[in-house]
Amino acid sequence: MAEHTLSGARRGQKGPHGALIPVFDTHCDSLQRDLDLGHDLGTSTRGHLDLVRGREGGLAAVVLVCWCDPLHLEPGQLGARERTKHLLARGHQLLGRHPDQVRWVGNHQHLTEAREAGQIGALFGIEGGHSIEGSLENLEWFFERGVRVMTLVWNNHLDWIRSCRDGAGPNIPAGLSSFGREVVQTMNRLGMLVDLSHAGEQSFYDALEVSSAPVLVSHSGCYALHDHPRNLRDAQMKVLAQNRGVLGIVFCTPFLDAQARATESRLRETKEYQSISGFNPTDTFLQQAEWLQSQVKPLPLDRVLDHICHGVDVAGIDHVGIGSDFDGIECTPDQLSSAACYQALAVGLAARGLNRADITKILFSNSQRVLAEATGPGTRAAEASLQALECPKVSCGTPPG
Ligand SMILES: [Zn+2]
Repeated sequence: MAEHTLSGARRGQKGPHGALIPVFDTHCDSLQRDLDLGHDLGTSTRGHLDLVRGREGGLAAVVLVCWCDPLHLEPGQLGARERTKHLLARGHQLLGRHPDQVRWVGNHQHLTEAREAGQIGALFGIEGGHSIEGSLENLEWFFERGVRVMTLVWNNHLDWIRSCRDGAGPNIPAGLSSFGREVVQTMNRLGMLVDLSHAGEQSFYDALEVSSAPVLVSHSGCYALHDHPRNLRDAQMKVLAQNRGVLGIVFCTPFLDAQARATESRLRETKEYQSISGFNPTDTFLQQAEWLQSQVKPLPLDRVLDHICHGVDVAGIDHVGIGSDFDGIECTPDQLSSAACYQALAVGLAARGLNRADITKILFSNSQRVLAEATGPGTRAAEASLQALECPKVSCGTPPG
C-alpha cells in the first residue's frame, strides 16, 4: 500500500487501556477489490480493509457489502442481480479460503461463536435495492445465500423508494411505495437488517414506521455538523433511537466536513485526477483514491469524533456505531487510514472522557444488539444456514497483460 496512506496512522495501536476494544464495522466495500482486482482479503492487500489489518485493529464483525453500479442495469450489461451474485460469491470464497480467520455470521449466535473461536465475523450485505430487481423472490434468494443486511436504496432512485440525492434518476414520489413497505416487512420476517443510509428523508421515516425491528443507518454522519444529504438530521436520529436502531458514523471525509468536501471536489475537477485510468472501474477508483489522498491534508480524527459525540448527545449512547465505508471512499481521516487503525477512535473517545463501557458500545455492542434483535427468535435467520454459492466464471481479478 502506498506510503502516504499510512502517514499519521498508528497501525495496530492498542485501545485506551492497553487491550483492543472489539469493533463492529457496519459497512465496507472491500468485496469489489476481491472480485475486480483479485485481491485476497484474507491477506495483506492494497486498499483499506482486509482480515489481516482488521485483526490488528480489533475488528470482530464486519458487513461486507455487494454494491452494484447502476450502470449494470443498462441494456447489454450484466444486470444488477447477476453482478451482486458475483460479488457475493467472492464473499463465499473468502470464507472457504480462510476458515481459520473468518466465519459467516447469519445471526447473533454465529457472531458469538466467531468471537469464541477468535475469528472475524463476516456479515454479507447488499447496498442498493436495485440488486433485487423488483422481486421479493430475489430478496429471499440472497437471504438464503447469506445476505443479512440490505441498504434499501443507493444514490439511484427506485420505483419503490426515493434516495437522498435530489435530481438523481427519474422523478419518484418521496418515501416508500406499497412494494417498498413489503420489502421492509419481508426483511423483518426473514431477519435481514434494514439499512437506511442513502435513503431520502421521507423514505427513512416511512421505513421506520413499517419496520418491526431496529434498523441500521450503516454509514452516514450528522447533518447538524455538515449539511450533506447523506447525513441524518437531529430529528431523524431521535426517531432512530425510538426504533432502537444504530447510526454507524462514516469515515467519508466529504460527508463529515464542508472544507474537505470542497477541497476534494475541486481536486476531482483537475486534469491529473481525470486522466487516471485503470484496467477496470474498480482499479480506476483505487488509483484515483490514492492520488486524492496524496493531495490532501488528512481530515483530523477529531472531526470523526465530533460526529460520534454529536450522535451520542442527540440519539444517546446506545444508538451510535461505526460504519467506515472502507474501500468505498477515496480519502480517509487522519489516523484512520485502514482497518488496522480502528483503535485510534477508542483512544480519541477516551480522551474526550468516555469510559471503556461506553466506547465498547459505540465500537461494537450497539451494532451487535441490533443484529441480535433483528435476527432473533421468530425470524428465519434464527435458524437458517448458509446455502452454497458457486463463483460464476467471470473474467475479472487480474490485470490485462
Ligand atoms: Zn454507500
